[in-house]
Amino acid sequence: MCGVISDGGAAWYLRSTGNHDTHYGTWSGITRTVHALCGIEFRPAAGDSGGTFVPNPPPNPDQMCPDCRSKATGPV
Ligand SMILES: [Zn+2]
Repeated sequence: MCGVISDGGAAWYLRSTGNHDTHYGTWSGITRTVHALCGIEFRPAAGDSGGTFVPNPPPNPDQMCPDCRSKATGPV
């Protein structure tokens, strides 16, 4: 247990289609928002595919939140 996110609920979520706005976090069905590793809370937007989450890792690294990216993948 050293930084690996593997609780089963975490995934990449699209906050918007802009750059650096795809965040890694956990979905809360209570608040219907995503709690991202970088500390923000947001309601995910539907992506081009129509889904609310994107594959891991996201196909376009430019869309990944740098803070979430470093936290999700660990130090490089
Ligand atoms: Zn983030």
